[in-house]
Amino acid sequence: MSNLEQTLSIIKPDAVERNLEDKIKTVFKNEGFKIVKEKKIKLEKKDAEKFYKVHETKPFYNDLCEYLSSGPIVVMVLEKNGAVLDNRKLMGATDPKKAEDGTIRKEFGLSIDKNTVHGSDSLDNAKVEIDFFFAH
Ligand code: UDP
Ligand code: MG
Repeated sequence: MSNLEQTLSIIKPDAVERNLEDKIKTVFKNEGFKIVKEKKIKLEKKDAEKFYKVHETKPFYNDLCEYLSSGPIVVMVLEKNGAVLDNRKLMGATDPKKAEDGTIRKEFGLSIDKNTVHGSDSLDNAKVEIDFFFAH
């Protein structure tokens, strides 16, 4: 049975800065994800605040928004069967120190804040996040 889904992935500033863009895209492709849309952009802090609004009461919110808007990012729509959950699994835990072997955050993450990738955490949020970046 087909369960084709789309999810939003972001290659965060720490990874773009280290020239990991192509390596990370290769990881996604090797795991069966199709990159159906992508763009490299630099967010204004205001946009980062909007994107991460769900975290606005968290102590790390301001630093997080500063960080996401600190340099270029690559925003992608990834597609495959079960894309949302499979992407979360492939990313690994938020804190790279706790991420499993073979995950992107384990391999490339620097710290809990500079953790290399973002991925939507549900199908509903994936739709909202894809719209945020790709609706015109
Ligand atoms: N974050 C942070 N400190 C924390 C928790 C999260 O800086 O203690 C950052 C981190 O970059 C993370 C983002 O906030 O990716 C969003 O947090 P969330 O809990 O949604 O983690 P994710 O869904 O990215 O795994
Ligand atoms: Mg999250």
